[in-house]
Amino acid sequence: MLDRGSALVLVASHERQMVYANQRAAEYFGLDPRRPPEPLSFRVMHGSQESFERFGPLYQRLKIEGVVRAEWELRGGDGRLCWFDMQGTLLDPSDPEGNVIWTLFDVDARHRAEAELAQTRLRMEAVIDRFPSGILVSDSRGQTILAANDMLVSMLDVPLPVSDLVGQRLQHLVEHLPADLAELVNADAQCAGQAVGEPGRMLYALPSGRHLEVDRWPLRKDQRDLGWCWVFHDVTDYKQRESQLEALATSDPLTGARNRRAFLAQMDMKLERLRLGMGRSFALIMLDVDHFKRVNDTYGHAVGDEVLKHLVVAVTKELRKEDMLGRLGGEEFAVLLAGLDQDVALKRAESLRQTVERLRVEVPGQAPIRFTVSLGVCVVAHSDVSVALCLERADAAMYHAKRHGRNRVTCWSPSLSELDAA
Ligand code: GH3
Ligand code: MG
Ligand code: MG
Repeated sequence: MLDRGSALVLVASHERQMVYANQRAAEYFGLDPRRPPEPLSFRVMHGSQESFERFGPLYQRLKIEGVVRAEWELRGGDGRLCWFDMQGTLLDPSDPEGNVIWTLFDVDARHRAEAELAQTRLRMEAVIDRFPSGILVSDSRGQTILAANDMLVSMLDVPLPVSDLVGQRLQHLVEHLPADLAELVNADAQCAGQAVGEPGRMLYALPSGRHLEVDRWPLRKDQRDLGWCWVFHDVTDYKQRESQLEALATSDPLTGARNRRAFLAQMDMKLERLRLGMGRSFALIMLDVDHFKRVNDTYGHAVGDEVLKHLVVAVTKELRKEDMLGRLGGEEFAVLLAGLDQDVALKRAESLRQTVERLRVEVPGQAPIRFTVSLGVCVVAHSDVSVALCLERADAAMYHAKRHGRNRVTCWSPSLSELDAA
């Protein structure tokens, strides 16, 4: 009966000497099936002495439990090592010191495939762990986290180790994310739930001030949806450099105010919004330092520069978030006040004039410098004016103020040019 079936069957004494082998076992281990050589130790079937010794404790379990099972690598008659699923049973359950019957099934192919798979998985985990970006992999329905790395956890400030994320629902991670990022991943996960998804890229600013670029990829091979992969890149340095460059390109190096080009471009955009019926009216104020040449002539160009810097600091303090200041050139500045009617615009311009009048710029060993400005105001409520026309009108008002004694505010009106001409 022992010879039938696909199993290799061996009977061994408690001292691990073989006393019987069925035909398949005899063939495999290269034994004479009718007369196993005496005494034949199981040692010859192990790949090494170490393997033989490691196997020993199984006999102890066998004595206690009456049966034992293990996957083990044994050497065949041709010298090859092969994995077997081995089950040992006491031939007489009432005699723990008696013979043991071992049934062996060849599981070599499966065992090696599993080992290979485990290796591949380990390799993949090592790659993901060492990847220089945050990685998150979900199943194809965007529900379960299949892989993540330390970089992801630290980038997103998630207060959980990676080991607590893998195998959990994606929602478990989303709960620990800042609100907007949670929304982003949630929205993505919903897309991932659809059978056909497309790669996507999002830029995201974290509340901590860091910037992330998030790439989402469908993992697809041979028409099979295997999951989704999000790659989180920290682009904070890049973004900072970009905004530094932008600041350099749009600001005046002496005072830090917007430069002429940037100011006029912003103003053009505001006019465009007015034209589209989306923006509010605004007031443009032209502001020019009175007799600035005298400051330079009296104190030198460097002190003149200091005066301009003080002027910009003082004016900026008076502005609201939606207003803006630009240096159009030399000692000439423009201020754009958002959403004002003429009366309020004039009051704000007058307030600026007084602020400058009260300014004192300290000069070592000399009395503080005082100076004044002349301002021209032009309220832009209609969309039918160009940047050039606004500037022209505010300029005309400012020169009117100059001609009428300086240190004053003039508002442009259609009659102003005629008055001047007269
Ligand atoms: P007004 O009241 O008519 O405006 O007289 P003003 O002297 O202010 O005007 P003017 O146009 O005659 O002179 C402007 C001076 O501003 C001449 C120029 O040297 C000086 N200036 C222009 N840019 C700078 C700068 O960046 N730094 C310094 N220190 N001076 C500057
Ligand atoms: Mg001047
Ligand atoms: Mg000037």
